[in-house]
Amino acid sequence: MALTGIQIFKLLPKTNCKECGVPTCLAFAMNLAAGKAELSACPYVSEEAKAMLSEASAPPIRPLTVGSGENVVKIGGETVLFRHEKTFVNKPGIAILISDTSPEAEVNSRLKKFKELKYERVGLTLRPEMIAVKNESGDSQKFVSLINQVKSETDAALILISQKAECLAAGVKACADRVPLIYAATNGNSEALVSLAKENKCPLAVKADNLEALSQLSDKLTAAGLKDLVLDSGSRTVRKAFEDQVFIRRAALNQKNRSLGFPTITFPCEMTNDAMKEALIAATFIAKYAGIIVLSNFHGESLFPLLVERLNIYTDPQRPMMMQQGIYPIGNPGEDSPVLITTNFSLTYFIVSAEIEASRVSSWLLVMDTEGLSVLTAWAAGKFVGDAIGGFIKKSGITEKVKHRRVVIPGAVAAVSGDLEEELGKDWEVKIGPREAAHLTAYLKVGA
Ligand code: SF4
Repeated sequence: MALTGIQIFKLLPKTNCKECGVPTCLAFAMNLAAGKAELSACPYVSEEAKAMLSEASAPPIRPLTVGSGENVVKIGGETVLFRHEKTFVNKPGIAILISDTSPEAEVNSRLKKFKELKYERVGLTLRPEMIAVKNESGDSQKFVSLINQVKSETDAALILISQKAECLAAGVKACADRVPLIYAATNGNSEALVSLAKENKCPLAVKADNLEALSQLSDKLTAAGLKDLVLDSGSRTVRKAFEDQVFIRRAALNQKNRSLGFPTITFPCEMTNDAMKEALIAATFIAKYAGIIVLSNFHGESLFPLLVERLNIYTDPQRPMMMQQGIYPIGNPGEDSPVLITTNFSLTYFIVSAEIEASRVSSWLLVMDTEGLSVLTAWAAGKFVGDAIGGFIKKSGITEKVKHRRVVIPGAVAAVSGDLEEELGKDWEVKIGPREAAHLTAYLKVGA
């Protein structure tokens, strides 16, 4: 049975040395109990305590990684059923399928899409991370040749798919340094694939025809010493696959079912031939509860919304996306350039900064910490009001960068300016910018 935070705390060294990344042993114990930390983060736990804690403190859904270098896909590690309870932590990897029976032009086209379909949004680069290389030919040389091409042309985290253990062995040998996911152990080949996964320290997917068989196979692999498993319940209809995702998540979290306490892999590519339906199915599994989603192909018009959905679902709902407080030069501003100020809500920052960029008027943009609230919300909450803004401007260091004393506040209410002028003194001129970002360009050109 799982231990409580206090029970775990009693077994910790209680030195509060902070080496685990949190300020106190009690905080670490609470994180362990919630499945948000790993026991190995504390170097001072006694062997006796380790033995008692390791089972109880293991996260309900084991986190694991696929890939190496900068493009490592971490999946699993989830602790809640619903995003509003806390947050989902490790976003699902999105993969494109490439077969070793596809014509060269098709392979090249898919690799090109993998490399090029990347999108900038709220300061982040949204992109797919994985390629599922499928051995449909049954020929290990063709399989290895495709793996080598994928490996040399991309940084993708790899999924190696084959029904033949010997082809998988050849494939893993070609890319073991990339730590690929081996797909998939079944009742028929599990012994060979356990050795392959163990020898190469790779995660192993487990596939069965139903949840009961999946549970038994996962127990068998765990007993053989494998820890990093990815579950495939074998369902290929949307309804059954969706039910399985929910069942697996509930069993792991609510019933502490260790046999199903692993991330999952789903195959929308095998559930329909219609690209739009496939995107909708993938959207369903982003929300509930896939660890990896394999698509038959990438299309910009459906990949982008999937990436944005994933960003939104996996953003902590209790913490707005925020920018760091500070001075952001846009373009090449000098001592006569306009000074603008806005809040640190990411979306606000990117709307305002995009407008400034579009105006081609190099400017200084001051970003004030309002705990991630937008301009009017922060004003209503008393966090972006005249005296607070004035205090921030004075401390920001902007007066060392510009000769003038004028500041523009896009989208603020006029009521801000009175207190702000009083706080800054009569040397300063305050302009309340247009509320609609689209008008800021014209305003900057003529007004700042
Ligand atoms: Fe306590 Fe261990 Fe964390 Fe140090 S590293 S604060 S001893 S839990």
